[in-house]
Amino acid sequence: MSSIFSKIISKEIPADIFHEDDICLAFRDINPQAPVHFLVIPKKEISSMADLTNEDEAIVGRCLLVASKVAAKQGLQNGYRLIANTLDDGGQEVPHLHFHVMGGRKLTWPPG
Ligand code: AMP
Repeated sequence: MSSIFSKIISKEIPADIFHEDDICLAFRDINPQAPVHFLVIPKKEISSMADLTNEDEAIVGRCLLVASKVAAKQGLQNGYRLIANTLDDGGQEVPHLHFHVMGGRKLTWPPG
């Protein structure tokens, strides 16, 4: 299913892009919930964590590696949180797999 993130990948709509390669894209969340809040998404249209298949293993690996590297570049040496909201119960709004990286403040646990 196409989503607004496909338009960010194709540059039809702008985003503050922190990293781009052949497999994934990292960009600032438009509605940040922490001083640093960015998303890492695969360029492949995968709807959610629930839709991953064996062939996506390297894609997910790249996304998480990029999350780690961009977090370091964004100064999150004190730590951060990585979240993949999944489907309705997980509170997923955009149906394109994405990893939230949030940091720059002490985050509470558990989330709501
Ligand atoms: P989720 O609830 O996990 O699906 O989160 C979707 C995230 O995408 C939210 O944090 C939104 O603020 C973010 N978002 C939606 N549209 C855009 C956009 N055009 N650019 C950057 N972030 C966006």
